[in-house]
Amino acid sequence: MKMPKRMRIYCPFCGKHTMHEVEKVKKGRASSLKWIVRQKKRRSGIGNSGKFSKVPGGDKPTKKVFLRYKCKDCKKSHQRKGFRVAKLDFVE
Ligand SMILES: [Zn+2]
Repeated sequence: MKMPKRMRIYCPFCGKHTMHEVEKVKKGRASSLKWIVRQKKRRSGIGNSGKFSKVPGGDKPTKKVFLRYKCKDCKKSHQRKGFRVAKLDFVE
């Protein structure tokens, strides 16, 4: 998915549409994969093993990304709900 680096969206602080700079929010830590092992164990019976039958790593094929929008007017940044996307690129 391609995202414009700057876009005109609603700012909750200004109460109107302003130019915003889009920034990707970095995850604090790499999540441990212990829960994956537990999930695999639970599903390793008869029948379809859900997402583990598709992706070898057991991880979902897409990642959830969170974007931060920084308002050019008030210099405050706000966040919108994250969405799932395989790859995120910023375009000028
Ligand atoms: Zn603002």
